[in-house]
Amino acid sequence: MKYISLSSSSSGNCYLIENGDTRFLIDAGLSVKRIKALLAEIGEELTSIKGVVLTHSHRDHTKGVPTLVYRYNLPLYCTKSTLQDLEKNTGREVDRALWREVESHKEFEIDNFSLLPMPVTHDTRDCHAYRVKLGDKVLTLATDLGKATSELMEAVKITDHLIIESNYSETLLQVSSYTAFLRGRIDSDNGHLSNVQTGEIVDFACKKGRVKHIHLAHISANSNTPETALNYSKKFVTDGVEIDALPRKEISEMWEI
Ligand SMILES: [Zn+2]
Ligand SMILES: [Zn+2]
Repeated sequence: MKYISLSSSSSGNCYLIENGDTRFLIDAGLSVKRIKALLAEIGEELTSIKGVVLTHSHRDHTKGVPTLVYRYNLPLYCTKSTLQDLEKNTGREVDRALWREVESHKEFEIDNFSLLPMPVTHDTRDCHAYRVKLGDKVLTLATDLGKATSELMEAVKITDHLIIESNYSETLLQVSSYTAFLRGRIDSDNGHLSNVQTGEIVDFACKKGRVKHIHLAHISANSNTPETALNYSKKFVTDGVEIDALPRKEISEMWEI
């Protein structure tokens, strides 16, 4: 499988996964115009995308979704609550023929891919991390979670390519421009992972798993820097494992897993 990050930050999250003729997005938190322009950079078009899988309803993950669904008729893979929240925000119903219901712990398929939605705690009605399998290759994507779950750690154990958020530095969060309320929200079990929490997951993946690449994602522009996040997690990386921070607003390189 191949994977590319089109954008990874609180101003937009969008990841493309492909194999042969099968291409799908996980989240679409950019304008469709921007998604099209980024896809064009790698010679792809929207019409080649089979669907969009959502982690949750926050705008940095769903900005382009209404246009993708209403105008381009792309199938939408999401939970009932995420669909309801989306419809509430747009004031428009999604054609049920385009909706593929996602349920926690229930694996589903997109062609030869098998996706396992793993619920995580975040400040939305629901939010999911995904374990994506193709043959014996496994990619796990987990952004927007306040803490790791045992199900996620089980997935991490068999993951070849891990995309994990390293959202904030506890020190930088305290001196950030965020209000005390927002700082408390980010720092809670329903918020985001700190560099320290991510470091623990990286350590686990390297010691107990078979991971080859780790990409730090959703790095906050207000309370973290890619260098701070990387320097923290790098300490736990063992020989033979590559670690990198995903670009916040630009397209990443294409990764073959
Ligand atoms: Zn987010
Ligand atoms: Zn979120």
